[in-house]
Amino acid sequence: MLSQVVELIENKREFAITTHIKPDGDGVGSSLGLYWLLISLGKQAEVIVHGEVPSAYRSLPGADKIRDVRTITSTYDAVFVIECSDIHRPGIAGLETQFTVNIDHHSTSDHFGTVNWIDSTASAVGEMIYNLCKAIGGRITREIAECVYLALVTDTGSFHFSNTSDRTLKVASELIKAGAKPAKIGEAVYANYPWSRIELMRRVLDTVRRDTTGRIATMRQTIEMKDSAEAVDGDNNGFVNIPLAAKEVLAAVYMREVGKGEYRVSLRSKGDINIARVAERFGGGGHKNAAGLRIVGNWDEKELEIVEAVRLAIESTEADVSANGSNGQIRE
Ligand code: 5GP
Ligand code: MN
Repeated sequence: MLSQVVELIENKREFAITTHIKPDGDGVGSSLGLYWLLISLGKQAEVIVHGEVPSAYRSLPGADKIRDVRTITSTYDAVFVIECSDIHRPGIAGLETQFTVNIDHHSTSDHFGTVNWIDSTASAVGEMIYNLCKAIGGRITREIAECVYLALVTDTGSFHFSNTSDRTLKVASELIKAGAKPAKIGEAVYANYPWSRIELMRRVLDTVRRDTTGRIATMRQTIEMKDSAEAVDGDNNGFVNIPLAAKEVLAAVYMREVGKGEYRVSLRSKGDINIARVAERFGGGGHKNAAGLRIVGNWDEKELEIVEAVRLAIESTEADVSANGSNGQIRE
């Protein structure tokens, strides 16, 4: 919990921070936000990530200092593991022998850390880093503000997903006061892609279909599409949300071929439909309106199974809503 994290930062000196492989904005922004907090407290810290930092996050202060690490060789007083469902998500060998601090806002996290701080009410881990900064009596420097703001913007869909709370907006307001520039960060994240994103989008959107109810949209991305578009990691950020722009579409299933017979699946839903429950049935996880999983097998068969599971989730939500009313959460 938070008090344990405060105490260990006060009592220890040398830290590493890591996040999941192919990190998103919350992963990079929160890691760097925590890095700048530790530095401002006079601690030693470094951010280690397996693989390259996506270009959308490279303009953040400190992004150029992030080290690409596949095997941990030093021993740190503690390693912070940011928004990872398990100890293997960072893809860094040797992490399990370190003193780890698991910081996450997914309710599905298994408590793998030596210390675990999970707050599923936080919109993003970034919001937790802000709370940590306040709890430890740190000053929100411009660097912290920029990194944490980017984490909030990316994880809340620019403050319109259902995880956006009054606290999220209060934190965002404080970050702007501390020097974060929304237009600058917005442009760096959303208007800074290579043209290959547009080429890939064209190919993927060509595959968009709906099920017989018209309420579930599916999309596919093959390795060939990625290659012919000359796409790089991160070019497909947010594609899964595109079909949700249609009024009648309540859920989206976006399947990406990542190897022979191996696929990553992103799931999104609107309102009360709990898509994390669907992902968990297939060994994945996530949040109520945004979840993911990995599958191995026949593409068509797996897609049918997933769409069927989503259909059941929509139907059971409708049954609940007609019995008890909506809880008022609307994502779009
Ligand atoms: P995305 O579709 O953006 O990859 O993931 C959406 C959400 O689902 C994220 O919050 C992510 O952490 C979670 N998620 C994606 N893939 C997996 C997975 O394989 N396992 C678990 N537990 N969560 C996942
Ligand atoms: Mn997050």
